Amino acid sequence: MIGQSLFACFEKRHIITLSFDDGFEKSSIKTAEIFEKYGLSACINVIATAHLNNFSLPNEYHAWKVGDFQLWNELKSRGHEIMPHSYNHQNLTEMSFEEAKGSILKCLDIFNTELIGFNAKESVYNFAYNASSPEIEEWLGTQVKAFRTGGPAVNALPYPGQKKLTCISHGPENIDQHLGETIDQFLEGPWGWLIYNTHGLDDEGWGPVSSVFLDELLNRLSAIKTVEILPAGKALDKI
Ligand SMILES: [Zn+2]
Repeated sequence: MIGQSLFACFEKRHIITLSFDDGFEKSSIKTAEIFEKYGLSACINVIATAHLNNFSLPNEYHAWKVGDFQLWNELKSRGHEIMPHSYNHQNLTEMSFEEAKGSILKCLDIFNTELIGFNAKESVYNFAYNASSPEIEEWLGTQVKAFRTGGPAVNALPYPGQKKLTCISHGPENIDQHLGETIDQFLEGPWGWLIYNTHGLDDEGWGPVSSVFLDELLNRLSAIKTVEILPAGKALDKI
C-alpha cells in the first residue's frame, strides 16, 4: 500500500497553478465555468474592498466591474478557491512595515467577515504587484498558511511548512503565447510546481488570457497523466 501511495503521489509530478488576480466579475464567472468543464477548481484572488463604491482604482488595468462577496461565496461553494489579494491593492513595499501589517490585517478581517468558511491560517495571501519585503514576508508567514509573491515561476513540489510561493506574470497585452510557452518549457523540465499569475479573460485586466485559449489549454493539460492543475491552497493541502 505504501508503495502504491508513493507512486500515486509522484505520478503527478508537474503541478500547475493558474493564479487569477483582481476578481473581475465577468472574467471570474467565465474562468470558473471553464475550469468546471474539466472538473477543476479555479484559483481566484480578490481585493477585499474592490467591490465597494468608494474603492479608488489603482490604475487603468482595474477599470472593469469586479465581483462581490456574494459571487465569491457562490464560486467557493462550487469548489473554487477564493483567496485574498490585498485590502485595496496598494504596494506594501511603498509604506511602513506597520502600515503594511495593518493593511493585511484589514484585508483578512474582511475575508473573515464576508467569505463563508474562510480561515486565515489556511489561506494563501497573494501580494498586489507580487511586491513584498523579507520583513513583511516573515511576519505574514505567522498569519497565513502561505503567501504568493514575485520570483521564479517554478516552485518545489508542495512540502510541509512551505510558506513562500513565487510566480511570474506577463502583460499588459494578451498572454496566450507567453503562457503556452512557459507551460511547454515547464513540462519539458524536471518536476515541480509552476505558479503563473494570470488576471482577467479576453478584454479584462492587465495581461489577459483568451477564454478560448484557456479552454484549449485545460483540455490539453488535463489529458496529460503527469500534470495536475490545482489552486495554490489545494496544492498545499496535498501534502
Ligand atoms: Zn492585482
